[in-house]
Amino acid sequence: MYVFEMEFIPREGVDIDGEERMLASKISWFLLLCRHSGQSLGGEIRRGDKPFAYFVYAPEVDALAEKNDAPYVARDRAQLKEYFDISLTLLDSGSEKCVCSSRVGIEMRTEHGQSEAPFVCLSCGRTIPLYRLPAFEGGGFDDTLKWQEAFAAMLALENTVMYDEFTSDQLLRYDSKLNEEGRKLAKRLGQQVDVPVYYRLYEIDETFKQQPRKNVDGIYIRICPVCGKTMERMPVGGDEVIEVCKACGLSSAEEILEW
Ligand SMILES: [Zn+2]
Ligand SMILES: [Zn+2]
Repeated sequence: MYVFEMEFIPREGVDIDGEERMLASKISWFLLLCRHSGQSLGGEIRRGDKPFAYFVYAPEVDALAEKNDAPYVARDRAQLKEYFDISLTLLDSGSEKCVCSSRVGIEMRTEHGQSEAPFVCLSCGRTIPLYRLPAFEGGGFDDTLKWQEAFAAMLALENTVMYDEFTSDQLLRYDSKLNEEGRKLAKRLGQQVDVPVYYRLYEIDETFKQQPRKNVDGIYIRICPVCGKTMERMPVGGDEVIEVCKACGLSSAEEILEW
């Protein structure tokens, strides 16, 4: 994740007196659109010491560049540019992202919280910034972001005294509302890219409920909860191996428990 200061500097000869509130709300809207297009990961905190300066988190160093603007972001940016020059200053640089031109598959992961996009490239093992993926109908990634927020909320509960049967079921049951929605989103992306998209089943919780696995040559491989067949091992870029059910579009981390 990259942290930027995005500053909107009033253009020479443009009088913004009395328009500050209207302009600030225009800027907020623009930043929100950048999040919906996947160019921003949030942040959007206004600096108190400058008139129109904001901290913005971005998935890649050039994610907020004009060339990556979705049409609705470009439209909004053009309006703002009547008033402002937009300057970007990199404050902190983050981890590398997928730049593969072709991929063997994509995994929708459930454990990222909200600081990264939930899609991981199975060729290189890195996350794929949302704006590099086809946006769903209606523009933007609202549904994905809302799902991610809900998942992060369940994960937050997992480590508290409020953790209960409901939270546990939402995380662990493949057919919970939370997982059903995630699977739907993974499937929808799969229809728009030409590679398989797997939905990662959440593995373990505080109560250490074990998921059914089968011993295959000394490795305990997960049984697909939908079709009941043993999953297949699949190497991911780097040295990671995941398990997948190609027929059902589900994936799992390799065994992490001592048996
Ligand atoms: Zn990649
Ligand atoms: Zn299956």
